[in-house]
Amino acid sequence: MIMPVVIGIAGGIGSGKSTVAGFFAEAGCVVYDADKEVTRLYTRPDVLDQVRQWWGEEAVVDGELDRATIAQIVFEDESQRDRLEGLLFPLLHKRRHEMIEDAADNDVVAVIIDAPLLYEAALDEECDVVIFVDTPREIRLERLRARSGWDEAELARREKAQLPLDAKHRRSDYVVDGSGSTHEVRGRVHRLLEEIIADRSA
Ligand code: ADP
Repeated sequence: MIMPVVIGIAGGIGSGKSTVAGFFAEAGCVVYDADKEVTRLYTRPDVLDQVRQWWGEEAVVDGELDRATIAQIVFEDESQRDRLEGLLFPLLHKRRHEMIEDAADNDVVAVIIDAPLLYEAALDEECDVVIFVDTPREIRLERLRARSGWDEAELARREKAQLPLDAKHRRSDYVVDGSGSTHEVRGRVHRLLEEIIADRSA
């Protein structure tokens, strides 16, 4: 059994992190998608029970945590945020651990950690290497405009809540150019995976 290399993906909003993760999946890697895993937890019966106990029935709508209600509660009160994170983070940690073990059992070469706040959440500490997806701001803005109708102010507002990009860039082990067509980026990602595996066995 060979342990898979755990690869974190960092980069600006709209840089193409999830797209890059998808290209790794095509190459046979297992992908941990943080947003998807959180959404899954939001329907778990034990999580729902706990949240109902804390915040009442209105925090759950149609068998799912109500994101708007939860966002408001944790935005207004940091101790409530800590409480929610104390419930969810260990479950997410366990899930990553299980995915890595499964990948090892199935001889998967790499597990990809796609988390929007990789460094902010200290998930880089669980990674063997981190890749920075480097995409110029104008291109990111163009993509986000097309996907979600964001304007410059919306992007700036959301970026302000994150670590500065140059810090993420500096802390990463590899950089992949996220500009250009998806076809070009796919080629870069597949070559980078070969490079990372070669570096590991060197
Ligand atoms: P992130 O996960 O970094 O926020 P995504 O992978 O979700 O970025 O990409 C943001 C948006 O840009 C999505 O709508 C995606 O389809 C689009 N996109 C990503 N990469 C490319 C690319 N190389 N060319 C064109 N559009 C892209």
